[in-house]
Amino acid sequence: MIELPFFEQRHRAFAPALPDVPDLPLDERCRALVNALAENGWLEHTVGELDVRTLCLARERLAYHDALADFAFAMQGLGSGAISLFGTDEQKERLRGVADGTSIAAFALSEPEAGSDVAAMTSTARDGRISGTKTWISNGGIADFYTVFAKAPEGITAYIVEADDVQIEERIDVIAPHPLARLRFDDAPGELLGHPGQGMKIALATLDVFRSTVGAAALGMARRALDEATAHVKQRRLFGAPMSELQLVQAKLADMAVGIDASALLVYRAAWVKDVLQRRVTKEAAMAKLHATETAQRVIDDAVQLFGGLGVTHDHPVERLYREIRALRIYEGASEVQKLIIARATLA
Ligand SMILES: Cc1cc2nc3c(=O)[nH]c(=O)nc-3n(C[C@H](O)[C@H](O)[C@H](O)COP(=O)(O)OP(=O)(O)OC[C@H]3O[C@@H](n4cnc5c(N)ncnc54)[C@H](O)[C@@H]3O)c2cc1C
Repeated sequence: MIELPFFEQRHRAFAPALPDVPDLPLDERCRALVNALAENGWLEHTVGELDVRTLCLARERLAYHDALADFAFAMQGLGSGAISLFGTDEQKERLRGVADGTSIAAFALSEPEAGSDVAAMTSTARDGRISGTKTWISNGGIADFYTVFAKAPEGITAYIVEADDVQIEERIDVIAPHPLARLRFDDAPGELLGHPGQGMKIALATLDVFRSTVGAAALGMARRALDEATAHVKQRRLFGAPMSELQLVQAKLADMAVGIDASALLVYRAAWVKDVLQRRVTKEAAMAKLHATETAQRVIDDAVQLFGGLGVTHDHPVERLYREIRALRIYEGASEVQKLIIARATLA
């Protein structure tokens, strides 16, 4: 894939060492991953001039290797992306800590009654003080600061809020655990990010960069599932011959391989358009995320099937992938939302 014309030499040469972090309690492992990613030179790409192709290559590789490493990488970017794009020089000072792993970032947009329907948010901001509840916030509980969106008199507005000013109401446990929480803001001081009323623009511009990278993470997981399945069917014997000689098995592998290549083309097309043509990629990113996440779910399910009983064994690589892929079809815009975006752009 890397030989395709979407890439430049610096992308072809991009190969930081993978983080190798032992099994630890969740929060500790996440912090250790953030440190390892900083040390190995990954995190410098999550701040400043954001190159979407590099972000996608990074997420694809990390997700292939370790989904929590991908999560830690992605959240440093998503959590600080609004500062990279809209922050003042002084606010951008904060990005150094994000890149060197000493400061953990989070992005707080969703609310209990405002997920897909972002505009329904009820968190308010008055004179720079924020009140309300945010939920499903990744890195909630371990973040050092939060990029928060709330309704000011001028409209939805973005703020930076220090972790000390946020209450963690509840930690949320999900099928593939990562730090996740419901947050409470009680008159919390927020530092204005961008202009009052510019919050939706800031959120959408941030997602315009990071949405394709969700597709890239799905792509990495799908590639891992195909590699695991391929190795398995070559050595597993069924009815007196390797499984790989069964044509129905071959048909599955072919479908998996085609889906993966199509996802890669859509992901890196979207990234290339953003980086090189430097325009909004709302439609291309929606296509990349929709196709790559839905395909990865099918590819991983096929891999589980090819492994038989082993595939549903707790902590088997494909069982882990089966849990890890699921949320990607929901967050940063569920698949249905991506379809609406694509349809709207097509009809326009
Ligand atoms: C693991 C995880 C991590 C997350 N991390 C963050 C984070 O860091 N920061 C943050 O702000 N948010 C985060 N989220 C929240 C996420 O963005 C929302 O869950 C998502 O936007 C969906 O909102 P909801 O859960 O309220 O579901 P709802 O908005 O209630 O939607 C439910 C379902 O309805 C369907 N649907 C939506 N719109 C339509 C439509 N127009 N027509 C038909 N069907 C539709 C979709 O299938 C959707 O899944 C995270 C979520 C998860 C699961």
